[in-house]
Amino acid sequence: MPELEIRNVDKFYGETHAVKSVSLAVEAGQFIVLVGPSGCGKSTLLRSIAGLEEISAGDILLGGRSIANLQPRDRNIAMVFQSYALYPYLTVFENIAFGLRARKTPEAEIDKSVRWASDLLHIGDFLGRYPRELSGGQRQRVAIGRAIVRDADLFLFDEPLSNLDAKLREQMRVEIVRLQREVGITSVFVTHDQTEALVMSDRIVVMDKAEIQQVGDPQTIYASPVNAFVANFIGVTSLLEGRLLDRAEGFCEIEVPVGGGAVPLRLRASGGEGAARGDRIVLSLRPEDVSLHLEEPEGAANLFEGEVIDTIYLGNFLEGRVRVGDREIGIRHHEYLAPGRKVHLSFRPEHGLCLTE
Ligand code: ADP
Repeated sequence: MPELEIRNVDKFYGETHAVKSVSLAVEAGQFIVLVGPSGCGKSTLLRSIAGLEEISAGDILLGGRSIANLQPRDRNIAMVFQSYALYPYLTVFENIAFGLRARKTPEAEIDKSVRWASDLLHIGDFLGRYPRELSGGQRQRVAIGRAIVRDADLFLFDEPLSNLDAKLREQMRVEIVRLQREVGITSVFVTHDQTEALVMSDRIVVMDKAEIQQVGDPQTIYASPVNAFVANFIGVTSLLEGRLLDRAEGFCEIEVPVGGGAVPLRLRASGGEGAARGDRIVLSLRPEDVSLHLEEPEGAANLFEGEVIDTIYLGNFLEGRVRVGDREIGIRHHEYLAPGRKVHLSFRPEHGLCLTE
C-alpha cells in the first residue's frame, strides 16, 4: 500500500484550473520531487496535501486513510517553507520545540528531541540564538529541525532552498537527502530547479500546465522523456522538428527539413507511440550525445553539416551552438571553435530521441 496516494485531484481557483486530475502514489520512505515551471500547479498540489488548500475534486490518502477533509493540524504532516517561517522572538531551541510544546510533550522529551535534531543538522551550538543572529542556511536548518522533531507521517518541502546562495544550496541538497534517509520519512519536495530534482529524488514528478507529464526515477526521466516538454525541462537538449517516415522495434526513421532539403535520420523512439507516418515529430538531442567532426566523416549516419555560432568556456569543457540550416544544435567540445567555422555533427541512433510535443 502506498503511504501517500493522490487520487484524481482537481483544484480550481475561480476560473483557473490549477491542478488537473492528478493521481500519484508514493511508497513509504520515498523522496519525491515535484518539478515544473512557475505556475504549473506544484505548490497548489503540495498545499492541498498539507490541507492549506481545499481540493475541488478527488481524494488524498495518507497511510490508507482519507485526509482530504481533515484540518491541517489533524493530518500529522510537517512542512518546510521557502520563507523559513521562524518565530523571531523565540530562540533556536524554542523554535524547534514549538510544535512539541503545543502538544504538551514532557520537558525531558522535548529536550532530547531538540538535541537530537540539532545534532543531525549541525546547529547544536546555536540553540540559544535568535533567528536574526543566524545565516540563511542556518535558519533553514532550524525550520527543518522543527519539522523533523514532530514525528510526522509525511514531510512536505516547498522550495526550501530558493533563498540560499548557489554553494549553500548544493550543500543543503545533499544534507536534506542524507537526513531524509536517516529519518526515513516519506517526503515530497517542490522545486522549479531541474538539477535539484535530478540530484535529490528517488522519483521525479514532472508537471506542466496543471498536469503530470511524467513520473520516473531520475535516470529514466533524463534518458527516456515521454515528450518534448520533459526532454527540454530536465537537462539541456536541442529540439528539431521533423516528419515521421517509419517506425519499428523501438527506432524511428524521420526526416528533418534543413536549408531547403531534408536530412533522413534514424533514432530511438521515446514516447509518441500514437504518431503515424507523415506526422510531425520532434527530435531531441542532448549536447553530450552529439559528435563534432572538423572534416566530413566517412560513412557516418545521422550527419548534419553546420556552422559554429559561438562557444562558451565552462572550465572542464566548452559548450557551443552550431547553426544547421535555420536551426541551432547545442554541442559539447573540448577546444575552442571560431564562430563561422564549418563543422559536421553526427549522433548514434540510440542517442537521438523521437518525441511528440
Ligand atoms: P507553481 O507552484 O507551480 O509555481 P502554483 O501552484 O502556485 O504554481 O499556481 C498554479 C496556478 O494557480 C497559477 O496559475 C496561479 O496563478 C494560480 N493560483 C495559485 N494560488 C492561487 C490563489 N490563491 N488564488 C488564485 N489563483 C491562484
